[in-house]
Order: sequence, then structure tokens, then C-alpha cells
Amino acid sequence: MHNLDIDLVEMTMDVMKYSINRITNRNPVLGAPKKEEELRKIVGETITPEGIGGENAFQLFKDVLSRAIVPIDHPRHLAFVPASPTKAAVMFDLVTSASSIHGAYWMEGAGGIFCENEAMKWLVELTQMPEGAFGVFTSGGTAANLSAMVTAREHWRSKDESNQGEKGLMITSIGAHSSIKAMAKVIDVDVLLINSEDRLTGEELQNTIDGLDPHQRKRLFAVVATGGTTNAGIVDDLDGIASSCNKEEVWFHVDAAYGGGALAADSVRHMFNGIERSDSVTIDPHKWLFSPYDCGAVIYRNPELARNAHAQEGSYLDIFKDEGARGFNPSEYQIQLTRRVRGLPLWFSLAMHGTDRYKEAIERGIELALIAGKMIEENPLVELVREPSLSCVLFRRKGWTPEDYKNWTYKNHKAGFALVTPTKWKKGDEFETVARFCFINPDTTTKDIQEILDTME
Ligand SMILES: *Cc1c(COP(=O)(O)O)cnc(C)c1O
Repeated sequence: MHNLDIDLVEMTMDVMKYSINRITNRNPVLGAPKKEEELRKIVGETITPEGIGGENAFQLFKDVLSRAIVPIDHPRHLAFVPASPTKAAVMFDLVTSASSIHGAYWMEGAGGIFCENEAMKWLVELTQMPEGAFGVFTSGGTAANLSAMVTAREHWRSKDESNQGEKGLMITSIGAHSSIKAMAKVIDVDVLLINSEDRLTGEELQNTIDGLDPHQRKRLFAVVATGGTTNAGIVDDLDGIASSCNKEEVWFHVDAAYGGGALAADSVRHMFNGIERSDSVTIDPHKWLFSPYDCGAVIYRNPELARNAHAQEGSYLDIFKDEGARGFNPSEYQIQLTRRVRGLPLWFSLAMHGTDRYKEAIERGIELALIAGKMIEENPLVELVREPSLSCVLFRRKGWTPEDYKNWTYKNHKAGFALVTPTKWKKGDEFETVARFCFINPDTTTKDIQEILDTME
């Protein structure tokens, strides 16, 4: 008997009751952070030699700590990239935990990994990458990008011995997500940023490559295009960029962490043409595919290259590679060894609802962006900065200073009404502070949008 398992029955009931209530609550309290000292003052010491008891700890969480959280699935949370996990996925996240599955190797995790791979098959289909392409679920877009970048760099080094001692170079644009630059530091490669936040074209990329000096050109091993920029929902010219990468024989990675869900939306699928020619793709199911945190995914045109880069060696690991354990080992295709089968909640929700429901829910996000665009055009106080793209809308409140946008954000947040944050948009050499909506939650209503716009008066 585990000595940490006393009082189990009552605690189980409490936790399940709370979870069910929270999952079915479509309008959770929009909490706000408190200072750490303030929280400590209210909550007191919770980690003590004797323990404070489950009931006490849970009460503190419910009454105090959960109110210092901004629930990311609130229908008027339109900041950053919000989320909206399905109830089915959240419930199955509990099942995933309860089942104690080790998701690194088929030998232990076969049943769970089988389900993940079924969901992965659908993601790969959405990209229309050729036969043989496949991927794994990761902790998020950052880990997916890192896993792809390591694979690209190792492949480049293995192609030519004289690349071994060289520092790699990647090209992307300033529209790329911050994680690309951050992960370039992790693998110690340089990043050349094309100075445009608008849609990166194959021509611009080719001009940049043509302008490299011979040593830079030798060091160039990968190009990262964005399939839906986080700031504005812009999809780069993936087909043109693919042609340039093909010609130059450099790795072509598409970061579609946010936009990837839109591959399922017929109304915008054409914007992603060319993604099928990439070497690797990042998609975050925890963004626009309604999975709970955390769940990212990386897909490779040639998974063997990922395996060459990521498979870990160790005498205690040999058994997993043995004939008797043969099967797909997720740990061999990304940076993590021990891993949660974090694709499992997505699998259950997809299996339950069917992919058509997913299509509809994603199309709703795009529709909400178009509706918001119309409302902004009809409102004399505001104007669009650019046409809505995917589910992102950038707009300005005429006459407002950066300070006004900030005050507006805090006012709505403090009132527990909405979380809508400003961003910056580059115009020429200047950055302008503007307002931004990002729609993910299909339960956001036009009334929500109208009421938020009304707060700008
Ligand atoms: C969110 C995002 C990432 C980072 O993903 P995490 O899941 O937060 O690690 C990477 N790229 C793009 C385009 C994103 O929108």
C-alpha cells in the first residue's frame, strides 16, 4: 500500500466534481494575477513536514489560486494565441494521466502510441506531404521547431564532411516566431532575418541567398517559413520558397504552430500550397486543434533523418530496439526521451467528434475574424491595419497612443471582462502600436466582439 494514498475516495470525488464543473463552464471567471507576496499572505505555507491536508490545499486552490489565473479558453480572451480545448480532449487528458503510459517506446506505450499515430496520420494528410512522411507529438511548437532544426543541421553536416566544423546559418523573416531565434541559440547556429513582417516570397528569399558571401552560403543549411505568423496570421509564399530551397538544396521548414489548424479549413487551404514540398512542419494542436496544454507536433518528409539525429543510445535502452519490441518509438524523432502520450487527448476528441466537426470549428475562427473586420470597417472610431488573415485581426483606434492601448487592456482585464492586448506592426522603419484579435474559441460571439469594440469609445 502506497503511504501517500490515504483519503483517496473522498479526494477523488472532489477532484472529479471540480474538473467536471470547470470543463462544462463556458464562462469561467477571468482571473488576474496577484503579486507573489500577496498570494503567500493569503495562502500561507502549504509545504510543511506534516502536510496541510488535501481538503485544505484544494480549497486554497479553488478559492484563491484558481482566481489568479486567466483561463485561456474564456470566449473574450482574444490575446496572444488563445485556446479552446474540447471537453472530450480535456476529459481524456485525465484518462491519459490516470493510465500511467510511458510514451517513449512502443514496447511500453504501444496502445497509447497507436492512438497518437492515428491522429498523426490525419495531421500528415492535411499537409499533403508524400507517402512516408510522418511525425511525433512534442511538448509544443518550440520543441517541435527545435527537433526539426536539429534534424536539418545534422543532415547538413552528414552530407559533407567539410560542414562538420562549420557553424550553421538559417534564413527566416522577422515575421517568424521568437522560438526560432531562441532555439537557434540552443543549437548554436546563426539566423539571418529578412527584414519584412509581410508575406515572405520565394523571390525575396532567392535574392537574399544570392546576396550571401561564399562562406555564408556554405553555412546555410535551412530556411524557416511561417504558415500563419503569430502576430498577423500571414502565410508565407510556401510554394515559391519551396522552389528556392529545392534549387539551393537547403532544408525547408514550415512553422505552422499557430496556423496549422487552418490546413483543415477549405476556405483558406490554398494559402498553404507548397507546404507539401517542405522537409518538416510544426503544428501545435494546443493552439488551433482544440487540445489541452501541452501538445505540439513535428512532421518530417523523411522521418529516418530525424531518427539519425535524435535516437538515443544507452545499454539500458537496447532492449527497446530489439526485434521483440519493434514498433514506432516516438523518442527517436524529437528531443525528449520519457514523454507523456500528449497526442492521446487529441486522438480521443477526433475519434469522438469526427474531423468534419474540427473543420467547422476552425472555419468559425476564420469567420469571426472576417466578421470582426466588417464591424471595424463600419465603426468610425477604428480602422483595419490590414485585411484579417486566418483568425488574426490587426486594427487601430484612431488617435490612440501606445499608452491608451495599454490602459484599455488593463481596464478590461481588471474588470474581469476581456483580455485583449495590443501588439506592434512594422510600417516602413517604424513600429506602430495597434490592437489585435486572435480567434480560436468557436464559442466567441459577435456580441462579445461588439462589446469589446464598445470599450474603445
Ligand atoms: C506559438 C508558436 C510557437 C511556439 O509554440 P509553443 O507551443 O508555445 O512552444 C512557434 N511558432 C509559432 C508560429 C507559434 O505561433
